[in-house]
Amino acid sequence: MSDTKAASPAAPGCLTDAQIAELHSVAPGRAPDALARHLASCERCQARALFGAERRPGRTKDRPQPPTLRRALLLAALVLAAMAAFFWTLQKLAGRIE
Ligand SMILES: [Zn+2]
Repeated sequence: MSDTKAASPAAPGCLTDAQIAELHSVAPGRAPDALARHLASCERCQARALFGAERRPGRTKDRPQPPTLRRALLLAALVLAAMAAFFWTLQKLAGRIE
């Protein structure tokens, strides 16, 4: 392959390096309409225009795993037990049970 990282990494439809250089050379607000419109909607080209390259994807945090069904049921049971104890205590304090 003759493609190198230095060459435009543009995906189809994205701005070329020359178009991004053109955007840099014009005054703010004076960019050609088609280029500005693409730049406004394309995160990739925004990164290339601002940083000169695509941003490397940051270290992505592993998403926490949802609890297993057993753990979820155990948690629900503990919550119900705590609520039952609370209402039992409430009844006791209200004098409704001996
Ligand atoms: Zn683009």
